[in-house]
Amino acid sequence: MRHQLFIGGRFMDAESGDTLATLNPHDNSLIAHVAMAGPADVDKAIAAAKAAQPAWARMAAMERGRLLLKLADAIEENAEQLAVLESMDTGHPIRDTRALDVPRTAVTFRYFGGMADKFEGSVIPVEAGFLNYLAREPLGVVGQIVPWNFPLMFTSWKLAPALAAGNCVVMKPAELTPLSTLRIAELMAEVGFPPGVVNILPGLGHVAGQYMAEHGELAKLAFTGSTATGRRIVQASAGNLKKLQLELGGKGANIVFGDANLTAAVNGAAFAIFHNQGQACIAGSRLVLHRSIADEFIARFTQLAASIKLGNQLDPRTEMGPLTSMQQRERVLSYCGVALEQGGKILLGGKAPADPALRQGCYVEPTVVLAEPGDRVSQEEVFGPFVSITTFETDQEALRIANATEYGLGAGLWTSNLQRAHQMAARIKSGMVWVNCYKRVSPASPFGGVGQSGYGREMGFEVMREYTQAKSVWINVDANLAPYYPR
Ligand code: NAD
Repeated sequence: MRHQLFIGGRFMDAESGDTLATLNPHDNSLIAHVAMAGPADVDKAIAAAKAAQPAWARMAAMERGRLLLKLADAIEENAEQLAVLESMDTGHPIRDTRALDVPRTAVTFRYFGGMADKFEGSVIPVEAGFLNYLAREPLGVVGQIVPWNFPLMFTSWKLAPALAAGNCVVMKPAELTPLSTLRIAELMAEVGFPPGVVNILPGLGHVAGQYMAEHGELAKLAFTGSTATGRRIVQASAGNLKKLQLELGGKGANIVFGDANLTAAVNGAAFAIFHNQGQACIAGSRLVLHRSIADEFIARFTQLAASIKLGNQLDPRTEMGPLTSMQQRERVLSYCGVALEQGGKILLGGKAPADPALRQGCYVEPTVVLAEPGDRVSQEEVFGPFVSITTFETDQEALRIANATEYGLGAGLWTSNLQRAHQMAARIKSGMVWVNCYKRVSPASPFGGVGQSGYGREMGFEVMREYTQAKSVWINVDANLAPYYPR
């Protein structure tokens, strides 16, 4: 596959000739050198997108949709290759990229392919004598910055609605994981997307990303990543008032009540934190347990966590692979020290695995920590296979703990009491709530957060609003409209 920038329908080297190395986190061996975009390449990509956008927006919506549907088919035809690529570059176990990442990517393009000609404007009931209608227009050229935790899936979450709505895109994948997005660029060219409609620029965040945030010719920047970078983007874009959509960090509370089905809750809570090595903004990284079941829950949960099979992400038996980078591994391990300093207790893990076969890689054992709700490990996004546990007595206390972080992205509730589930779901400060399940996502259901988890929503009709602007058109349908200056 090509390892160059994708601009105006062609693959090319960066103006500077610079490249970045992308590594396999299993052993930190080199996978490929990839062209690294700088400001001159961003300018070139924005110019290509600007040239392509009017025709793309004028194209019949059904035709735009048809191209997205063809891309979904192409992804399915190349599923195995994409799964291997994504696993190699990120560390996701191949069983997950095969079963989740690749199918979800195809489904997202298919959903928005269908959406393209179904997202409608409206007629607004204003006073008699006027027809007022609301048209939804594309924004123009939009920038998109994708993180390294789910690069393939997030590429689809960002590209599909933007394109369905008639925008053209300049996208920067994360420097750690550019490969699957570049493969999507190849497939887009193959299925016939016009040149310039999508431009893909692997590059450094503080160089190409920052330049995109500052750029005056992007109508919008959609970003997924850390809250700290999100704040930097807000500052960088202040000079040109571009529209922002920010999907930032999280510290998901997963609350298990005394009446929960414990078998389901233990399994769901393990999936919530250990899937993708905990590198998920919606990870259930805080377990909040009712005292009546805490001992039994902790015993069963740590037993399950200890049995998770760590290994090379390309081995189909592997249940947990390496983290995506050594830097992330060090970050996660450093939080074990933080937990201990504040009086926390490590119940499981807290270190790299002893297996010599994994020593070169970015592995961390599933880690379970007892901590107070106010401790740093209960407040800060660790972004790894690291869960902090606290206990509660009353529903009020559970709610207080759940809401006591600056984040508000995802939260889980495990209970057999329907009233409690609704009451709590309504009161939790969070963009998404899962009851007796966790981390369910669908292209049809809005995804996003409140507070320091960002603003704007991905998915569903909500995201189509994010990628369009409303135009209100007034038509005088009354031939005898009273003049303002009667003469
Ligand atoms: P990051 O936010 O720095 O990186 C995410 C994306 O932003 C990458 O594409 C990066 O190139 C880009 N970026 C970085 N600096 C930028 C800038 N100044 N302007 C524009 N774009 C920029 O995340 P990271 O440093 O790779 O990871 C640090 C922490 O962020 C993690 O430990 C985790 O807590 C969090 N994180 C969260 C998510 C999420 O989905 N919420 C994703 C990745 C990382």
